[in-house]
Amino acid sequence: MPFRNVVGQGRVVSYLEKTLIQSKTTHAYMIEGVKGLGKKNLAYQLAKGLCCESKEDKPCGECKSCVKAERGTNTNIIYLQEEKVIKIESIRNIQEEIKIKTFDGSIRVYIICDSDKMTVQAQNALLKTLEEPPAKVVIILTSINANRLLPTIVSRCQLIKLKPIKEEEMRKYLNEKKNVSWNQSKIVASLSDGVIGKALKTLEDETYVKRRGLVLDIIDRISTASVFDVLKSAEFFNEEKENISEILDILVTWYRDLIIYKETEQLDYVINCDKIEEIILQSKKNEFSKIRDVILMIEETRANINSNANYQLSLEVMLLNIQEDLKLW
Ligand SMILES: [Zn+2]
Repeated sequence: MPFRNVVGQGRVVSYLEKTLIQSKTTHAYMIEGVKGLGKKNLAYQLAKGLCCESKEDKPCGECKSCVKAERGTNTNIIYLQEEKVIKIESIRNIQEEIKIKTFDGSIRVYIICDSDKMTVQAQNALLKTLEEPPAKVVIILTSINANRLLPTIVSRCQLIKLKPIKEEEMRKYLNEKKNVSWNQSKIVASLSDGVIGKALKTLEDETYVKRRGLVLDIIDRISTASVFDVLKSAEFFNEEKENISEILDILVTWYRDLIIYKETEQLDYVINCDKIEEIILQSKKNEFSKIRDVILMIEETRANINSNANYQLSLEVMLLNIQEDLKLW
């Protein structure tokens, strides 16, 4: 498979492979998709394919150009990546460079990462290049949202939209390529929203498993604990302030599992599949409406925290309300 490490984007990959083989490529591409879907990797694979000297598989991985690209020394693949803003000067530098032809007439590819960071001036400057595309030059833009760019830029690019990948596909990848157990893959996949980068980040984060364990412990204790103990749990949330979004996800996933089991009495859709006994027990003990209220409350807490409400107070109120709602266990 010529396009390496591009997971779950089969439709896009086969389209690009076909255009490369048939030499039907265009002078500008816009790769759009949320963070973590592999936009930069796809741009790199496409650039490699455009520069590849093979007549068959592109990128072949074997020709001089491909080998150099893999070593990171292919001077015909140029990245523009800025921390905050892409200024007009950076675009002008590219334009000056484009004027100088490659000595062997080979193709040069410019990858502008996070192109939505371009200032309006930078975009207007780039527009001139897109309007009169120079020969043997391809520009690949990546963006989390193409609507943030001038419509005139987007309309001159071939738009390639990356979509979140399906859960089954994600689980298969995690299981086969990353040695994640089938049970664990469901938990990781469900937290990743179909975004491979997010799943890999969760896996790399060794503390995630520990954190999930602590959150599930709190859930387990909360119904029988005293108010004092509940407020003591709030200390954990204070220490984990940076990871609060993930922690709230773990909580929502748990209560969502209770509802799903309560409604269907089936375990197929349960995410926390390593905690089946507790799921069954807790879902039987609690009313549907109460569990639903708890989920709504967690989401409300998330919204409050995001809009800068008092962090500690928001969480304490949430925990006490959960206890109140699920008291009659
Ligand atoms: Zn090649």
